[in-house]
Amino acid sequence: MNKKIFILFLITITVFSCKRIDKTNSQKAEKDVTTQTETEHYSGELIMSTLWFQRAAERRALSYQAFNMAKLSLDKKLKEIDSLEKPAIVVDIDETMLDNSPYEGRLINTNESYSSKSWKEWSGLAMASAIPGAVEFCNYAYDKGVRIFYISNRKADETNITINNMARLSFPDLSLSHFMLRTDTGSKKERRAKVLENYKILILIGDNLADFDEVFENRSDNYGFDTVDKHKSEFGDSFIMLPNPMYGDWVKAIYNGDNKLPESKKEELRRKSLISF
Ligand SMILES: [Mg+2]
Repeated sequence: MNKKIFILFLITITVFSCKRIDKTNSQKAEKDVTTQTETEHYSGELIMSTLWFQRAAERRALSYQAFNMAKLSLDKKLKEIDSLEKPAIVVDIDETMLDNSPYEGRLINTNESYSSKSWKEWSGLAMASAIPGAVEFCNYAYDKGVRIFYISNRKADETNITINNMARLSFPDLSLSHFMLRTDTGSKKERRAKVLENYKILILIGDNLADFDEVFENRSDNYGFDTVDKHKSEFGDSFIMLPNPMYGDWVKAIYNGDNKLPESKKEELRRKSLISF
């Protein structure tokens, strides 16, 4: 083998080895990503949204903004209401009146997904704090003669513990008949209709669009954006929206309506839904 051929041989060997190392590294990286999404997906998925909810002063400001807006709107509507009509407001509970983000924190730390068993462990403590501005707003409305109906998808057997939690925080209008928790369907349509039999609902407050009207329940078309656009003048007026980046129907829209997909598929859909350039 002359010198030139030997050098060429050495170069070929080096290039080939580098390619193999590259391939092995990329296979390893792929494997790491898979392992990470399978074992740590709850922290990856929820940690920033939960931290934002718990630690961003912007979230606190948004809550005050929502309840300040609710107060303005309520005052305006009380002036317009027919004197024979009995005024009411409908409010959701979780992430609207009560802050359950410590439950999300627990899911992250234990790497678990939601279960009614772990949820009841949390709600049974009756330790949730109030969403900033919620207690003040509800008392303001109640003092003006407005009745408050708490329509929530907490299960009906959590009613007493929820009332205990809210009583400790000084929410008003806590009689059993004002708590309409979930018995069968998650849709709040019928429970709102029940309130409407005797009251005029002036405003609705929630962290999920379906807290306002059943038209928002279906997100299969364009994430529900068109329905929101159609009702844009009602936000800040009849509908008061609070932020919740941790969970809600918006997440289901990303998973094509199926929250029970395997985590690998969910991760794929999360990536697919992301807008980039
Ligand atoms: Mg809620």
